[in-house]
Amino acid sequence: MSQPVRVTIWNEFLHELNNDTVRKIYPHGIHHRLAEGIADYGDFDIRTATLREPAHGLGSELLDETDVLIWWGHAAHQEVSDETTALVQQKVLEGMGFVALHSAHFSKPFQRLMGTNCSLKWREADEKERLWNLQPNHPIMDGIPEYVEIERAEMYGERFDIPTPDEILMISWFQGGEVFRSVCTWDRGNGKVIYIRPGHEVYPIYHQPEILRIIANASLWARRRVSISMVDAINFQPLESVPNVEKRHILDPADTD
Ligand code: ZN
Repeated sequence: MSQPVRVTIWNEFLHELNNDTVRKIYPHGIHHRLAEGIADYGDFDIRTATLREPAHGLGSELLDETDVLIWWGHAAHQEVSDETTALVQQKVLEGMGFVALHSAHFSKPFQRLMGTNCSLKWREADEKERLWNLQPNHPIMDGIPEYVEIERAEMYGERFDIPTPDEILMISWFQGGEVFRSVCTWDRGNGKVIYIRPGHEVYPIYHQPEILRIIANASLWARRRVSISMVDAINFQPLESVPNVEKRHILDPADTD
């Protein structure tokens, strides 16, 4: 029997405290809604963490026990420390999955993993969004129809300043005419990174079953398979006899006699 996938859901958790509209939609926070919502679509062992906990709730040990880290942030990306940002990146390179949601396109861990600005066009105008399923045979699209509609959404438009994705699974169309690469994947080291666009906080998007299913499928797909640190370069001894192996390494004049 396979083990449950260990998911840590990280939420900035500020709008829910400061904004009545958001609090009504997510009275216990976006992190708790996501935890409830994805549980219907997989065997998960879920923990949550938030920005203003010590070390943002993300220690090295917790990340070692995390198969997938889901990240929602918007108003306070700069409050995330450089230490935590570097730690998350290293854990992904070792094998942890990372799922960036909506405005997490501008989060420090996602930018660091991408190496680009991750900027985009945006507009808040209560527009309809239609997300087209480009890879119905992909595990992340399991159970997802030909397209998914969100009645009212914030528009995100191209160009989205990301490296060319390994896979583009959904493209959004918006009422105002723009399109956007909405569900994308990248390999980074031994880990997988996924960006999933929907989730503007003033709309009840994380109550919509198809969106929760995409996030759950992404978490199953991106789960940690290995834990291999590759921080150091290794002076590797030959697997078989190689002539003059010692001499090849005498490059520093101080080492010669
Ligand atoms: Zn938004």
